Amino acid sequence: MPAKKETSRKAVFLDRDGTLNKNTHYLIDFGDFELLPGVEQALRLLQDLDYRLFVVSNQSGVARGYFPFEAVEALHRKIEAHMATLGIRLEEMAFCPHHPQGSVAAYTMDCDCRKPKPGMLRYLATKYDVDISRSIMVGDSMSDAMAGLNAGMASAWIKSDPGAPRAGQVDNLPNLKEFVSLLDFAESLRDF
Ligand SMILES: [Mg+2]
Ligand SMILES: [Zn+2]
Repeated sequence: MPAKKETSRKAVFLDRDGTLNKNTHYLIDFGDFELLPGVEQALRLLQDLDYRLFVVSNQSGVARGYFPFEAVEALHRKIEAHMATLGIRLEEMAFCPHHPQGSVAAYTMDCDCRKPKPGMLRYLATKYDVDISRSIMVGDSMSDAMAGLNAGMASAWIKSDPGAPRAGQVDNLPNLKEFVSLLDFAESLRDF
């Protein structure tokens, strides 16, 4: 009998808006969810390279009173189901509902999970026994990159806007790797 394949302990932690899907700002209706070009292919490649996939998203719209916590959960169930039909398994979509200056008291706080804080990454890494040293955070903003670095993992910055400043010019992070797309990033991991 062949040995049971061990669950991989390396993971890619993905930002949601602007990394997986077109950033429509405070997305809440699945009908407005639109994957960016190459993302489907990129996620399949990451899976083939044995990375488990997690999503970590700041959703301050909850604290701001734009939509309820449960609506984000419902949206995420739909995204997970949609991805499953594409053969892509998202292990968990975590989100931070907080903001220091919100309007909904229960979510108005200086939390440990809003990126660039590493709370969501640490929570998922512990829950799923992820090896931080072999994992990568990828996103389209500096707060994503910082969250990864703050959690002690490598970070990759998707710079779809060629006019944006380079990583080395921002917060003195010369080691932060930049890519033009999620697919560009995934392809770089073939030799990682
Ligand atoms: Mg983003
Ligand atoms: Zn939070």
